[in-house]
Amino acid sequence: MSSLGQHAENHLVDRIGWMRAAVLGANDGIVSTASLIVGVAAAAANQNGVLIAGVAGLVAGAMAMAAGEYVSVSSQSDTEQADLARERKELSENPASELDELAEIYVKRGVDQALARQVAQQLMAKDALSAHAHDELGITKITKARPVQAALTSAASFSVGAAMPLLMVVVSPAGTLVPLVSAASLGFLALLGAIGARAGGANVLRATVRVTFWGALAMALTAGIGKLFGTVI
Ligand SMILES: [Zn+2]
Repeated sequence: MSSLGQHAENHLVDRIGWMRAAVLGANDGIVSTASLIVGVAAAAANQNGVLIAGVAGLVAGAMAMAAGEYVSVSSQSDTEQADLARERKELSENPASELDELAEIYVKRGVDQALARQVAQQLMAKDALSAHAHDELGITKITKARPVQAALTSAASFSVGAAMPLLMVVVSPAGTLVPLVSAASLGFLALLGAIGARAGGANVLRATVRVTFWGALAMALTAGIGKLFGTVI
């Protein structure tokens, strides 16, 4: 079991795992809180009301992120644990057919019969469960589930993202709240998109444009709704 996690190489994919979760969380925090703030402010609420709505949005969003991540990663973890338990049982009860099974996997990938058998034998001699987990079940270090870590990462990064537009509410002079919060939030989103793309080795411009577009759309939508309800009520 523990041998699955002892992979010293530091690939890009390894970083993308938590980095992606953190960037996505912060991204959600900025978009949802900025949209909430812009919507409430457009409905002509005072600065205090906007701030309360924003803080409530931060807490609600962070909790929703944590709960969602925990549940989804836990169920993934349960499935993986059940798969590993079944595999462990099969390996102890029927090692010969498990060897055939693993060799067959390599044959299907294009390795010839004799070599596939040799590879399977050597891998199973070192760590049979790890070899089967990796090549038969697709469970590697990268997909290994950590629900509490995922929940905390999401909640924390969402809160950091949400704090940015909230901070803008505090420092914006009266009357400039909507344009300042919108502009600053789009700036934060663009910066975050660029950081995320750079860390993941992806195209920086494309990622930045994509994330800013959705942020702008969300804010425009809530501002419109806020204005509509603000004038109706
Ligand atoms: Zn197996």
